Amino acid sequence: MSDYTKVTLDESEIPTQWYNIIPDLPAPPPPPLHPATREPIGPEDLAPLFPMDLILQEVSQESYIDIPGEVLDVYKLWRPTPLYRAHRLEKVLDTPARIFYKYEGVSPAGSHKPNTSIPQAYYNAKAGVKKLTTETGAGQWGSALAFACAQFGLDLEVWQVRSSYDQKPDRQRMMRIWGAEVHPSPSENTEAGRQILALDPNTPGSLGIAISEGVMRAAPDPDAKYALGSVLNHVLLHQTVIGEEALKQMEKVGETPDLLIGCTGGGSNFAGLSFPFLREKLAGKINPTIRCVEPASCPSLTKGEYRYDFGDTIGMTPLVKMHTLGHDFIPDPIHAGGLRYHGMAPLVSHIYELGMLEAVAIHQNECFSAAVKFARSEGIVPAPEPSHALAAAVREAVRCRETGESKTILTALCGHGHFDLSSYEAYLNGDLVDYDYPDAKVADAMSRVPVVD
Ligand SMILES: *Cc1c(COP(=O)(O)O)cnc(C)c1O
Repeated sequence: MSDYTKVTLDESEIPTQWYNIIPDLPAPPPPPLHPATREPIGPEDLAPLFPMDLILQEVSQESYIDIPGEVLDVYKLWRPTPLYRAHRLEKVLDTPARIFYKYEGVSPAGSHKPNTSIPQAYYNAKAGVKKLTTETGAGQWGSALAFACAQFGLDLEVWQVRSSYDQKPDRQRMMRIWGAEVHPSPSENTEAGRQILALDPNTPGSLGIAISEGVMRAAPDPDAKYALGSVLNHVLLHQTVIGEEALKQMEKVGETPDLLIGCTGGGSNFAGLSFPFLREKLAGKINPTIRCVEPASCPSLTKGEYRYDFGDTIGMTPLVKMHTLGHDFIPDPIHAGGLRYHGMAPLVSHIYELGMLEAVAIHQNECFSAAVKFARSEGIVPAPEPSHALAAAVREAVRCRETGESKTILTALCGHGHFDLSSYEAYLNGDLVDYDYPDAKVADAMSRVPVVD
């Protein structure tokens, strides 16, 4: 079986259920709290923002949830996605390690995000919603949701973080092709945006601010709802199609991973790949190490505190227990825009606290160096976000070369970098600066995070 490069599945092998890891965990995750009363929220508290089908998935205790036929029909445009053995990268690294990558860049939007934008648009359309609002950092989520809204006849208004809006005009063009209206965030269109602009008219913006704007626009409008591209339980749930397929593909070629690696922004592609493998690990069938990789400039898992915080900057969302850098975190404009969020998914945070995951933070120059090695050997130009996972895979492969150990490594290549070429240019010109997020800034931000006991 050593001569395969690409492991494919038939259309009939697309998973027909999403996997919910919560019932399999040794302890349940702490509940989200109402921002005013600090009591656990109920489904009705989320109803102004999300349709009931998604709220029920958010709090579900069922292990498996059927994927609707209408969603599967759209998934068929690009799923199942290929799993590759990185023979050429292994050769360049001269490593005995066996490196596999699950490639999600074959979706129409070029990343894993349509795995959840499609069901989110579907359930909203089914509930009679006319319009969605959302935030986007690098533009990947905004374009994935624009594509999904075009499939199900919904209008879409997107607030894109100002620094990315300026750096990545092609993502805006894509969102507009699919029919969305795009604003830079902070904007003059919402009270939240106007408040932030009054404090600092030149702010680069942040995902937290853009979330406040999208929520503020949707909440009072009976025809509009809000959609989030990461962090929430139902988003992580939808992404498990990645791991379910990868499990089948590895099995098909008789391979078992010793190490799973994923980049973590809000945690959704990482959870999507790793949760089905974690299920098998909890059942005692396999025993891989599972590693999250985040930017050294936005280290929510490795430097953030595990406590209740808001998901947005203004403090309109429920309080969720997660690893956080503080809800008023304004990231430095590093190039992996999709990883610049102040918090980690509460579910990933909880599983990390249970000791079932590892986390490392890596600087952007090391990530781009790995991405360029990857592009020159495997051909695909990775998005800057999964270059973090690739950098960790390269570290491990080099370790294997030094120790002679042969490990099987599986990583999620969750998107291509065709809209991020200016970041590559900055790297190739030697213009990228490595930056450690200072502990003092974390401590300062914590003083503004509510105290909940
Ligand atoms: C959005 C995005 C990320 C970060 O989000 P996660 O929820 O952590 O997956 C990472 N990679 C790509 C390609 C993205 O589009």
